[in-house]
Amino acid sequence: MNPGLRTGEPSSEPRGEPPGEPAGRRRPGLPRPLRFIGGAGFTLAGSCEVCGGWTDRRLCPPCRQQYAAPQPRCRHCALPLAGGQAVCGQCLRTPPPVQRCLCVADYGFPWDRLILRFKHHQAPELALLLGDCLAVAARHDGLPLPEAFVPVPLSDQRLAERGYDQAWQLARQLGRRLQRPARADWLQRRFDGRPQAGLSRRERLTQLRGAFGLRAGAPAQVQGRHLALVDDVLTTGATAFEAAATLLAAGVRQVDLWVVARTPAPAPD
Ligand SMILES: [Zn+2]
Ligand SMILES: [Zn+2]
Repeated sequence: MNPGLRTGEPSSEPRGEPPGEPAGRRRPGLPRPLRFIGGAGFTLAGSCEVCGGWTDRRLCPPCRQQYAAPQPRCRHCALPLAGGQAVCGQCLRTPPPVQRCLCVADYGFPWDRLILRFKHHQAPELALLLGDCLAVAARHDGLPLPEAFVPVPLSDQRLAERGYDQAWQLARQLGRRLQRPARADWLQRRFDGRPQAGLSRRERLTQLRGAFGLRAGAPAQVQGRHLALVDDVLTTGATAFEAAATLLAAGVRQVDLWVVARTPAPAPD
């Protein structure tokens, strides 16, 4: 692991937002900001990341309303639910090790593009926006805050290839925003497993068994704690649930999962 990329220090150092428009002020007479998602890859301070309109929050209120509106979801896996249910059928049949799963929205426009930029196009500043959206979603949900945020770790090999750990960037931003420590030095990923596409649910779970472990010194620090794992996208849940099970086996009292986006339900298998 490159210690310059991830540290276990509590994330309390101040980091201000770039200058933007004062709250509530618009400048309709000015031209639209010169950026588009997936385009030239630059951002003007004060422009909405989605529509390019002027805002002080990187996501303007209309876009927030349209794309980040809360909706009823399964409390364990964040799949959208209808009809007042609290838990989806799959989680009723097989309760996952995650107590509460929080997400901002389904994985679709504009989150797919924002997360791709964040993850692969070296746009770490998007952690500000994505972390802010998660914090707002948590407040709306009334979710009890965890004692610390723990990124779902990459293996050292994957981190070396990518050079950038998006889950850590999110966890660190959440820590700053919500006054909680973010810890990348508790959980480690020992191996990656094969790509999960095409695998059955059972195969996905089996191939990841033992993929995570606690780093030296961590067990004593996590005992009895309420932690939240953090990642950018939740797809099958196999990876995050294996990480959660590892934490619970180490004596963690409760594991929640905070992700920016949730993919739609997979086909039953
Ligand atoms: Zn907008
Ligand atoms: Zn569920």
